[in-house]
Amino acid sequence: MPEGDTVFLTAHRLHEALAGKTLTGGEVRHPRLAAVTFAGRLVTEVVPVGKHLFVRFDDDRSLHSHLRMDGSWHLYAPGERWRMPGHHARVVLVAADREAVGFRLHDLDLVPRAREGRYVDRLGPDLLVPQWTPAHQAEAERRLAARPDRAFGLALLDQSVVAGIGNVYVNELCFLVGTSPHAPVSDVPEYVRGEVLAKARELLWDNRLRVARTTTGSTARGSRHWVYDRARRPCRRCGTPVATTRLGDEPEARTSWFCPRCQPAP
Ligand SMILES: [Zn+2]
Repeated sequence: MPEGDTVFLTAHRLHEALAGKTLTGGEVRHPRLAAVTFAGRLVTEVVPVGKHLFVRFDDDRSLHSHLRMDGSWHLYAPGERWRMPGHHARVVLVAADREAVGFRLHDLDLVPRAREGRYVDRLGPDLLVPQWTPAHQAEAERRLAARPDRAFGLALLDQSVVAGIGNVYVNELCFLVGTSPHAPVSDVPEYVRGEVLAKARELLWDNRLRVARTTTGSTARGSRHWVYDRARRPCRRCGTPVATTRLGDEPEARTSWFCPRCQPAP
């Protein structure tokens, strides 16, 4: 799964490229949407909500998509050769000076804007709203506490608790507060849960326009993460080799990286 900041940056780039422009062509390569045409339609805005992306048009319709594990959007100059095979393309949006191509997109749908909620109503507070308020924070804390027996790492991944966190941030956030991702939510003190959510907002917001995400503050290659994807390398705090575990039930389980000394098992 992409992190919320990846979806945010994708939407930002699409918005910069297409908003306010009238499309000259385009299509959706999905059986149910094969008859849809975009020629003559004006793109009003491109908006991320959690990990969902909406391209909104002037006829009040909204094109929904989700990147899941493997989706991506590319921008090209007219006639430029695509960097992925054409048979992976799901959406093509053509403006006079730009072409946006969505590869391996999931959950494609074209809905009236008023019905976007079917995809996002169940989400927890979106960590990348322009203003993260105490009300957002309190609601996220309430949702996090609702299932006290669940593993803390899994609760953070649940988009109905808080929207935007993926596996990279789960690993990094658990390290930052010295908690095992396997610890039950109830074992994590309330103030630490609050810290994690505030930190999640801070990190995602700081990274929302960055290509190379950093959670350590360093942008140098190889030093951008505390534990994520650092198996057997020394913990940046205590030098203990970073270990891995599986979080969740197979086949959906994720690999988690953690420091056995800084984040003792429950
Ligand atoms: Zn350590």
